[in-house]
Amino acid sequence: MHKAPATIARGELDARLSDGARGHLRQACDRLGVTVLEHTGVEAVEATRVLCADATALASDATVWTAGFAVSPLAAAGGLEVTENGQIVVDRTMRSVSHPNVYAIGDSAYAIGDNGRPLPMSCASAGYTGRQAIEAIVGHLTGRTIANTKLVYTYNHISLGRRDGILQTVDDAGQAKPKYRGGRKPARIKAGILKMALWATSHPTYGMPKRKHRLAAAPDAIAGKVLA
Ligand SMILES: Cc1cc2nc3c(=O)[nH]c(=O)nc-3n(C[C@H](O)[C@H](O)[C@H](O)COP(=O)(O)OP(=O)(O)OC[C@H]3O[C@@H](n4cnc5c(N)ncnc54)[C@H](O)[C@@H]3O)c2cc1C
Repeated sequence: MHKAPATIARGELDARLSDGARGHLRQACDRLGVTVLEHTGVEAVEATRVLCADATALASDATVWTAGFAVSPLAAAGGLEVTENGQIVVDRTMRSVSHPNVYAIGDSAYAIGDNGRPLPMSCASAGYTGRQAIEAIVGHLTGRTIANTKLVYTYNHISLGRRDGILQTVDDAGQAKPKYRGGRKPARIKAGILKMALWATSHPTYGMPKRKHRLAAAPDAIAGKVLA
């Protein structure tokens, strides 16, 4: 028997959105025939059902688990300074504060953004921290001044199919601003971003410096040699 799609949230469905955007999301769920179950904890997922904390059992043909972000335990096991959730603590140039020869970017890095707050784990943060790390590594190798590149978090973007989406801007504290954009335009922008990301993945050297740089003497390596 075909079962109607449902989305389950422990709290409110996407509580990080503004009231308007949350309403938009709710309407989209209604339009798509998705039942929204809020304030519902999931205790177990089995092959054909989902067991909720209140002892309800929901029949399910396919369950998609979207429980959030987790970081590999590798960095902590390797002795790097990490946060409670395992992210590598880095300085402004994405160097590990405990192991300066290690750079961390993306979800694995605990990086402070330009607003003085930790960057959230996201595609955008991965891009910004990646650019900063490249700048720093090239700077260290060539002796060039290391520029501070942008480390910002400005919006959340949700795709709701090809013709609908939500673009929610956030303030300096990372909280949703009251205004949001919903509908076709955010959906088109999101599709464009995904297309670009796919293209960039298949052209990994695009934008890399073509000009050859002279390598600077590496003081650490020389010191290591002398000591050895
Ligand atoms: C289903 C889904 C939807 C998402 N949607 C969005 C979205 O709409 N917007 C948004 O901003 N973010 C989204 N995210 C989050 C976003 O994908 C991540 O924040 C982003 O990819 C982080 O980039 P990263 O380079 O740090 O890690 P990743 O992109 O995860 O890359 C890490 C790479 O390291 C490799 N790796 C891991 N361990 C090892 C190892 N021991 N040895 C060798 N290689 C290893 C992995 O295979 C992987 O290729 C989504 C994530 C998921 C899973």
